[in-house]
Amino acid sequence: MPRPGYPLTILEFQKRFATEEACRGYLFASRWPEGFICPGCAACDVGAETRRHLWICTGCGRQTSITAGTVMHKTRMALRTWFWAAYLVSTFHPGISAKQLQRQLGISRHETAWAMLHKLRAAMVAPERTLLKDAVEIDEFFLGGYEEGLKGGRQRGKKVLCGVAIEVRGRGSGRLRLAVLPDASGPSLLAFTQATTQPGAVVHTDGLQSYRALAKHGYDHRRLTQTDVAAGDQLLPRAHRAISNLKAWMHGTHRGVSPEHLAAYLDEFVFRHNRRRTPMAGFQTLLGLGLARAPITYREIIDQAA
Ligand SMILES: [Zn+2]
Repeated sequence: MPRPGYPLTILEFQKRFATEEACRGYLFASRWPEGFICPGCAACDVGAETRRHLWICTGCGRQTSITAGTVMHKTRMALRTWFWAAYLVSTFHPGISAKQLQRQLGISRHETAWAMLHKLRAAMVAPERTLLKDAVEIDEFFLGGYEEGLKGGRQRGKKVLCGVAIEVRGRGSGRLRLAVLPDASGPSLLAFTQATTQPGAVVHTDGLQSYRALAKHGYDHRRLTQTDVAAGDQLLPRAHRAISNLKAWMHGTHRGVSPEHLAAYLDEFVFRHNRRRTPMAGFQTLLGLGLARAPITYREIIDQAA
């Protein structure tokens, strides 16, 4: 049996996850699609569910929580609130801010909404590791110029150099990757290309000298200059479209972010871009279902920001 599916509409979502019990049932089915397996002794016989919603193995007596390993582990927030937060974050197209999440779900403290949002965003990194292939546009660009702190105060910040890699699919775009770059040197751009794009791929770049090393590392490098395209056309149209969408989103939803959190926002944009045709599918990933990864704590988020 595969992982349970996800609802396709908001009405279906509302109906399916109407109670805490329904959410717990969904978590149980996501966690053990083949039936219960004890992480302690691998026995398959699940016993009773305790009042605190732990499952007791009949073999060894070990108690297992259905939220262990998910973003919901050890939170006091209702599962329904988490499900709705994951739903809003994965489907709300321009992306949702902590303030909007707090208001929509009636979360009393801003810090709680903010921490939830960051935990959900942390789950946006893992699925994006496979390399882009066939034909890819690669470019670099500056982002930011001002930042916003946790308390909402705005300060002047530095512009941050980022790299964009996007697949060419006919006249449209395929998958996207974004990353913060240390600089625009040859080694940095080669490292970005190697981290995002499969060797052998056709790589389109502008005329920047730093890209010259790509051909020596197995890429079919096509250097474009303005004379290669018709007047008024973009050199790398897919990369430029992604960059302008990213900038509009950053300004519209978040009004600038601190450089410490920038990488997480880039991941969020990439996650949503790559699921733009199946936004609901992201909801399971965000909750951490089926991911063998330790959940990120509020403390870790704060430490990252320090
Ligand atoms: Zn056991």
